[in-house]
Amino acid sequence: MKDINFDHLVNLQPFLAMEIFAKASELEKQGREIIHLEFGEPDFQTPAVISKAAIQAINDAQTKYTHTQGIDSFRAAVAKIYQEKYGVNISTSRILTSSGSSILLYIAIRLLVPPGDELLFTDPSYACYKNLAYIAGVVPKTVPLRLEDGFQLDMDLLKKSITPKTKAILINSPANPTGVVFSKETYKALAELEIPIISDEIYTDLIYEGDKYSMLNFTDRCVVLNGLSKYYAMTGWRLGYFIIDEKWVKTASFLNQNLMISASEFVQKAGAAALMESESECFKMSLEFDERRKFVLKRLKEIGLDPQYNPTAAFYIFLKYPNQNVKSLDLAKDILEKANVAMTPGIDFGQGGEGFIRLSYANSMENLDKALSNLEQYFKTYG
Ligand code: PMP
Repeated sequence: MKDINFDHLVNLQPFLAMEIFAKASELEKQGREIIHLEFGEPDFQTPAVISKAAIQAINDAQTKYTHTQGIDSFRAAVAKIYQEKYGVNISTSRILTSSGSSILLYIAIRLLVPPGDELLFTDPSYACYKNLAYIAGVVPKTVPLRLEDGFQLDMDLLKKSITPKTKAILINSPANPTGVVFSKETYKALAELEIPIISDEIYTDLIYEGDKYSMLNFTDRCVVLNGLSKYYAMTGWRLGYFIIDEKWVKTASFLNQNLMISASEFVQKAGAAALMESESECFKMSLEFDERRKFVLKRLKEIGLDPQYNPTAAFYIFLKYPNQNVKSLDLAKDILEKANVAMTPGIDFGQGGEGFIRLSYANSMENLDKALSNLEQYFKTYG
């Protein structure tokens, strides 16, 4: 048989965060102590009430497939949360549950954008967006987010990027990698467009300053994507959901049935417990993230690395580094090698991320303190 060359997947790119992590692991094997600030994963353990609900469900033999949209108690919990947090009244028939928001993102793209048409999203943005567009056979188009705008979306620029082929606009507020929340005016302006919005709201529970919105506050013609990975510290459980227009549910369900059948039953039980019973514990974790955010911002300013914008959410700071002649991947590798700190090169998030490096403060205060001292030393020595 002839070798397969995988030309059809040539555009797919690996996560550079993973490359940095692999290098960090090598160094750790050699006995080096590395501080990991490259991943967007809470360092906290999943709250016990959630794990207990899963164990109980397993013991009760709730280990089967479920309705493809998810079990009633989980969907009822989602509807309740959206009522409480955003004041929107959504029917549980509009909710589709699956194994993590990543697969739902893919489903949302397949649902709204025919192959060959365009998906519009920001640059920089979460590394998956471009890759998922390629996997779905749609054309990724980007609109820049600029540091001088505080990484807010410039609606004029966005409108200029729309073509007759633009079938969906994918936004992420609060955003990975910047930690910026879009303004209310931006949500409103997006809702006024004739194009459906896919709104990735996975970080909305981690907003530390200002108001919080869901796209559902402004329009129903959207896919609101959310998941339990971040706020509930459940990355490995793989549980997410989206809320969509009633008329889109049937086709979205076909996609989920074929791709995933359903999310696992006991994980959904745990998810229902997370949404209904873990709020106080999760809120405490978010307060801790906020403490770390303030601490890191203060220290960055002290050591001459002021990010020059205000990251108010998630657990990311996107730093423009001093020597713009160095590529972000080279810098990330060099910092890892010389300062024992792992961070994600900005290029991972698109061309617009070149010249930046992403720091995730999902790590202990002690480790953050150490990392910042190491960074101070590094930039003093190497510029
Ligand atoms: N959206 C964004 C912006 C993310 O940062 C992530 C995870 N890093 C996801 C979606 C996917 O999360 P999950 O599949 O764990 O729900």
